[in-house]
Amino acid sequence: MGNDSLQMIIRLANEMYRGGPVRAEGEPMTPDTIQNAPLVSGAGVRYDPPAGDTAYYFMPGYGAAPAAGPYGRPGLDLYAVRGDFPILRQRVNGKPLVWLDNAATTQKPQCVLDALERYYSEYNSNIHRGAHTLARIATRAYEDARETVRSFLGAGSAEEIVFVRGATEAINLVTESYGGTHIAKGDEILLTMMEHHSNIVPWQKLKSRGAVIKVVPINDRGEIILADYEKLLSPRTRMVCIAHVSNVLGTINPIKTMIEMAHHHGARVLIDGAQGAPHLGVDVGALDADFYAFSGHKVYGPTGIGALYGKRELLEEMPPWQRGGGMIREVSMEDAAFASPPQKFEAGTGHIAGAVGLGAALDYIHRTGMNRVEAHERELTAYAIEQLYQVPGLHIIGTASEKTSVISFVLDGVSPERAARYLDQEGIAVRAGHHCAMPALRRYGLSSCVRASLGLYNTMDEVDWLVHALLNIAR
Ligand code: PLP
Repeated sequence: MGNDSLQMIIRLANEMYRGGPVRAEGEPMTPDTIQNAPLVSGAGVRYDPPAGDTAYYFMPGYGAAPAAGPYGRPGLDLYAVRGDFPILRQRVNGKPLVWLDNAATTQKPQCVLDALERYYSEYNSNIHRGAHTLARIATRAYEDARETVRSFLGAGSAEEIVFVRGATEAINLVTESYGGTHIAKGDEILLTMMEHHSNIVPWQKLKSRGAVIKVVPINDRGEIILADYEKLLSPRTRMVCIAHVSNVLGTINPIKTMIEMAHHHGARVLIDGAQGAPHLGVDVGALDADFYAFSGHKVYGPTGIGALYGKRELLEEMPPWQRGGGMIREVSMEDAAFASPPQKFEAGTGHIAGAVGLGAALDYIHRTGMNRVEAHERELTAYAIEQLYQVPGLHIIGTASEKTSVISFVLDGVSPERAARYLDQEGIAVRAGHHCAMPALRRYGLSSCVRASLGLYNTMDEVDWLVHALLNIAR
């Protein structure tokens, strides 16, 4: 492609605020098709020149990049991915939205929105009861979603998957049901210093049963000190509770090793996968995790739905934690016999539409390819860290060698809240505060920090945008 036509296409692409999904499979782009593109999508435009020439992606408003470069990795068509997320098309405070608050919640692709709409407009019904057609369709969709979660987590059986509101509810279920029957006076529960409040506060309730909570320390980089963990494990350890990935430090914990070590001492392990499931392939079978919890809204699915994986033999021996309809086999006025797992733990009408939406989200990740998501996020995180170090007075909190795309930082002389407000004016959504991980922040002498967290649709241009805005703040 001649330099002139390339320049023209770049100009045209940049003049459109956000180009439509003008790339049809096998249909090469020309300046005309780009110019006539509908302004409906956050997707960029791919220019496929005649054989032998370089293909380019154009992100209107952002610029162009060779398709063979970071945006054109075979398989991850980042601009097509962005086109799947309608919310990314908008401007916020007059600027293109840059969503870097993925650790708090992720945006939803169109297929999830469609699945929710289809559920309510075509087959809304209560499930597992009612002998009519819509009840059968809804039950099938709900149980299909359970099977999708099973496959996503690598569990052996769909009966090991309990639908819950999210990671918080999953952990509460385990503390109430398993903890309430298996933890006795003097038993020890190990938590790491980097846990989210959702994996701390529910366990504290077991202190009323005489349980003792011990804390696994972390080093200055935000990594678990395995030697100290080893020392804390003992025959009194009943439960070990570990974040797969820290929501404030981004550390990927060595959970396989830690599970092995805990099992060696006869302890059970709960993995809080709220920040692991969105970024890393999970295989609960290979990990030999006893429990694994995650939230749908952090994996591009709806809010109010998530899942708890529990080993079948544990779920079977655990008592129900909530009682009501849908979780019984037989009821008399005096007594009740309970259904088998997972129904035993799903009292009342659950978030049926949410489960269907979660299934659609996990299918989306599967189609996109978790290995491609991981590779993209790894590259983007490395780039972001390198660029952020160019900002004078910026200090990154959490520099573990194994780290996902959660990047927390503080700026000399600027409060995190002020920095986040300034970034918001630039259309950049980040979070400032304690991130529900007060003990972890306290470990670094902090009560608050800024957190930028990247997801599968984020781009290097957006990182540049963030760094540019932070440089303005630093000035
Ligand atoms: N655990 C971790 C590591 C988290 O990051 C979060 C949410 O930010 C949770 C648990 C709680 O998730 P939810 O609020 O979806 O239940």
